[in-house]
Amino acid sequence: MATLGSVQSTIEILQKYQFVFQKKFGQNFLVDKNILEKIIEAAEVTEQDCVLEIGPGIGTMTQYLAERAKSVTAVEIDRNLIPILHDTLSSYDNVTIMNEDILKVDIHRIVEEQNGGKPIKVVANLPYYITTPIIMALFEKRVALQSITIMVQKEVADRLQAKPGSKDYGALSLAVQYYASPEVIVKVPASCFMPRPNVDSAVMKLTRYDAPPTAAKEESYLFAVIRASFNQRRKTLVNGLANAGNLGVSKEMIVEALEKMGMSPTVRGETLTLEQFTELSNSLLEIRQ
Ligand code: SAM
Repeated sequence: MATLGSVQSTIEILQKYQFVFQKKFGQNFLVDKNILEKIIEAAEVTEQDCVLEIGPGIGTMTQYLAERAKSVTAVEIDRNLIPILHDTLSSYDNVTIMNEDILKVDIHRIVEEQNGGKPIKVVANLPYYITTPIIMALFEKRVALQSITIMVQKEVADRLQAKPGSKDYGALSLAVQYYASPEVIVKVPASCFMPRPNVDSAVMKLTRYDAPPTAAKEESYLFAVIRASFNQRRKTLVNGLANAGNLGVSKEMIVEALEKMGMSPTVRGETLTLEQFTELSNSLLEIRQ
């Protein structure tokens, strides 16, 4: 039975080990059983699943995961938390604790060792400053995974699921929506954490597509076009792309590509769908040749 997940049990552990919170590691521990249950339910963890947990803290969510999963690998950067994790997880024989920085560790090796290279599920309550790099690294490095269930800052949740035309729509929305379908599971008020963060959060589930929803001739070029379109949000798409410098296209070529798509040369990047960005980047590649 999971024993953590309340204010009292968390304080007991923190006092027992005289733990000092490290701001640089974004340590805000979950102290709400209801939210923990919702995360586990959303991740749909079963006894067939191998789970990678990023940033286990004192092991609260790890306990809930270990109750249901076949195995859990928990990667924690703070070495002061390692003895605590060995204590709070001592009754589970399906948990591996690793004292590593998730941005530096070889995640492919973890998947290989944990699940013979077959897709795993990622569950994480991460510090907010590494949310974007870790989500992108998991997708771009093609880590074998089924889904990422992750606590993010409310504003990031809005960006991940934003649609064309909204103020939150940008390169991150498109990059994530190229790889996965995003879904907000539950909003999480700051009061569910210890210590309380300054912002509200949300749990999101990103379910990976078997294949990308659009057919880009060159993925790296598609993403270069997307980034260039949002780098200069106030400019028209034509100016933004022509100024980018790394796309190898002139204004005339971009206008030609847009005309082929039946779009005005004054269109702005923030109105284009992923399908339209793909069509545009494919067309630019052709015209460039
Ligand atoms: N999962 C715990 C919970 O829900 O109570 C802790 C969440 S806390 C927001 C984030 C955790 O990630 C901390 O334990 C922190 O030390 C750890 N962490 C921060 N940066 C990390 C990194 N680069 N690699 C692995 N763990 C990291």
